[in-house]
Amino acid sequence: MPSGSETSYGLIIGGREIPSGDDERRPVLDPATNRPIAEVAAGGRDDARHALEVADAAFRGSGWAGDDGAKRAKALGRLARLLEEAQEPFALLETRNMGKTLRESRLDIGFVVRTLEYVAGLADKIQGETIPVPGSRLDYTVREPLGVTVHIAPWNYPLLLAVRSVAPALAAGNAVVLKPATLTPLTAVAFARLASAAGIPDGILNVVTGPGSEVGEALIDDPRCASVSFTGSLEVGHRIAEAAARRLVPTTLELGGKSPVIVFPDADLDRAARAVAFGIFGNAGQMCWAASRLIVHESVRPALLERLKKIAEATKLGPGTEETTEMGPVVSREQAEKVLEYVEIARADGGTVVAGGARSSEPRLADGNFLLPTVVDALPVSSRAVRDEIFGPVLASSAFTDPDDAVRQANDTRFGLFAAVWTRDLATAHTVARRLEAGMVAVNESPITFPQTPFAGFKESGLGFEQGIRSVEPYTRRKNVLVNLSVPKKRP
Ligand code: NAP
Ligand code: MG
Repeated sequence: MPSGSETSYGLIIGGREIPSGDDERRPVLDPATNRPIAEVAAGGRDDARHALEVADAAFRGSGWAGDDGAKRAKALGRLARLLEEAQEPFALLETRNMGKTLRESRLDIGFVVRTLEYVAGLADKIQGETIPVPGSRLDYTVREPLGVTVHIAPWNYPLLLAVRSVAPALAAGNAVVLKPATLTPLTAVAFARLASAAGIPDGILNVVTGPGSEVGEALIDDPRCASVSFTGSLEVGHRIAEAAARRLVPTTLELGGKSPVIVFPDADLDRAARAVAFGIFGNAGQMCWAASRLIVHESVRPALLERLKKIAEATKLGPGTEETTEMGPVVSREQAEKVLEYVEIARADGGTVVAGGARSSEPRLADGNFLLPTVVDALPVSSRAVRDEIFGPVLASSAFTDPDDAVRQANDTRFGLFAAVWTRDLATAHTVARRLEAGMVAVNESPITFPQTPFAGFKESGLGFEQGIRSVEPYTRRKNVLVNLSVPKKRP
């Protein structure tokens, strides 16, 4: 683990860990107990502007943005090594702050390590083109970093979703200001503490903790902010797009979802049931691409629901820090309340609760935000429990008989992040995959992703993309250089 306090976290600006300007702090809670585990600096607008000023100076003066992508590749590689060596303490910190199981946190940190390695390999491959033009001329393009890039992260995969955009921005030579979610700031600060040891110049990787309505807005409204990468809710995404548009600043938005899983009657039902459960109970359902709508063929509906009920009821709830826990608490009391309200809406709209539908009744879990894995069947499509993103372990199930109707139901949403299809028939799989309006489609697979595969939503699930071989491009701008090569005729 990097040096620094384990109970007190500051802002990271210019390579130093400092209090906020007004020295305000706020407690960070453990979702398993709702008791404080640490304190973090509560930054404000002035801290945001301070970070931008320092980042801007580092961008111009540190040499990081220079031509040598190999240097940046080395530094990002070292950052990956340092994080890998500290994988276990980072995983524990993520679990204590966010609630997810240790197994999930280890996978998250592993994904971050792989992202850094992958993106390090791209840092020295940012190149332009030469373009044939008429006459005695040379035309070429260069790709330059943007300047100071701003990154605003959510609480569900705190470090993973922060680094997913921060890493390519660094690879391109930008200076970064990251604002983690107020509920889950700890791993972002701990990560930035590693930067100096990895050889990243001071001021190139900055973290400002504090409320989005203050720190986030001040970061975006400032002329030094050259791009915004936002992962979070649809609501805030709209506000950010508006604010960025006022300054014509490029934005990447990774927003919500209400992702469908279509199960055909020929599917392997055991595998499908496990994958559906993973897609909605994993991370206690707090996944942007949670597979939150099951659309199952009428003939296998009872068999699949029976399997899902068994899995839901056998899921071992507990604090994420216990190795035997299969599902942890949701992130906050407010989030638990919000999810339970949706269960009430589902009941009121005539849904049948097949499993769960309440808080855990285990006395030892009474202080935490523990919800039972929940399956609701037969909801009308107009129900808000079918249309809204719930962001908790609640699956809405419906039936189909005609494949066209299955696809229609799947696409009947404002979102378009992920969709899955389960069938053994090759033609059905590919035909349906083609018709699904989603940025990512899985065939006989749960929602899983790799740093090398693009991650993006259609419709209101987002704008732009992350991950993959082109992930660095949005953090560069293209300049065209036209050179006249004609030699002036000598005058007699
Ligand atoms: P959120 O409420 O939208 O917050 C996300 C981030 O935005 C937080 O850091 C938040 O700060 C900040 N923020 C809030 N208001 C802001 C404003 N006016 N200006 C600038 N920044 C502001 O989202 P969340 O509740 O943390 O996360 C859950 C959501 O994220 C879900 O909707 C989920 O679908 C989405 N998500 C999408 C993806 C994807 O890749 N598509 C991945 C994961 C999650 P505070 O914490 O201080 O409020
Ligand atoms: Mg929020």
